[in-house]
Amino acid sequence: MKALVVREPGQITLEEYPGPVQVPGSVLIRPVVVGMCGTDLEIIDGHIDPAYVHRPVVLGHEWSGVVVDGTDAPESPPVGTRVVVEGIVPCRHCAACVAGDTNLCQTYEEFGFTRDGAAAELLSAPSELVHALAPEVSLESGALVEPASVVLRALLRAAPRPGLRILVVGDGTVALLAATLARLWSPASVTMLGARPDQHILASAAGVDTFVLDSSSAGGGYDLVIEAAGAASAVETAMGAARRGGRVVLLGLAGNNITAPLRIDDVVNGDLTVSGSFAYTSSTFRTVVDLLNTGRLTLDFLVTHRFPLTQWESALAALRSPTGTRGKILLDISPSPTKK
Ligand SMILES: [Zn+2]
Ligand SMILES: [Zn+2]
Repeated sequence: MKALVVREPGQITLEEYPGPVQVPGSVLIRPVVVGMCGTDLEIIDGHIDPAYVHRPVVLGHEWSGVVVDGTDAPESPPVGTRVVVEGIVPCRHCAACVAGDTNLCQTYEEFGFTRDGAAAELLSAPSELVHALAPEVSLESGALVEPASVVLRALLRAAPRPGLRILVVGDGTVALLAATLARLWSPASVTMLGARPDQHILASAAGVDTFVLDSSSAGGGYDLVIEAAGAASAVETAMGAARRGGRVVLLGLAGNNITAPLRIDDVVNGDLTVSGSFAYTSSTFRTVVDLLNTGRLTLDFLVTHRFPLTQWESALAALRSPTGTRGKILLDISPSPTKK
């Protein structure tokens, strides 16, 4: 099969690659759309923490597809079902898994990182990770379930309640998803501190009340600050924008070994709660699928760029150097036009 493969840092090719091996309990799926994100660039460039990737690896951890063979798994959705698949493969036996923290499973396995991902013609996944999309939900919304799950898990860590003043630092897809999902808790206001004026259109669509481009306009005193820019300076800004007793959630990845200064007294005297959040739990992923399937959430408004798999280089170029309004970038894997 054709697959987009990273063999070594800096070495990425669309090549003929062995198809997945079917094992009992697994469902064979044809990926249709695959989102590309900054983490893919970190894998390509070799900037990701080496503990989280096994090369060679097929890229693609944000995706949706169609079931093509379920004969090995009694619980498989029928052939032709449009599905999304949890990317993290938990062991379900370790202490973390038993506690429901499947994102912290002792054996880290994830499609697109340690297992081959979805930027390929086929992917085989354990049936318990496969979730059907309702007919009304587009495959493009489905491709955003994974990043939305990452963001929802981070928000849940901050235990939001209605009426909060929220600041989102960053204006990329993760930041836009944070604004979208924060709306589920009926905040008093959502402010986004962005970097590119062109992003204000997507920010409005995501439910942002105020879009600003400099931290002095954003001000401070926020109940909850979500750092989604993934840069040391943005972390410093986020820490300084929370009110006393407020919460700061760090969601952006800045790169392996990048550090940011910390005003220790401000954290202590400010009574701040600062949390990180890694990936998503099985339960969070299911919650996002449920929100989509019941019409309480739509995500495909965030898709702005679409490229056929053969034009993967253009997709990566658009990812590296954003111009104009840019939300999620998708690769179209389907050999022929499919209803997205
Ligand atoms: Zn991603
Ligand atoms: Zn486990």
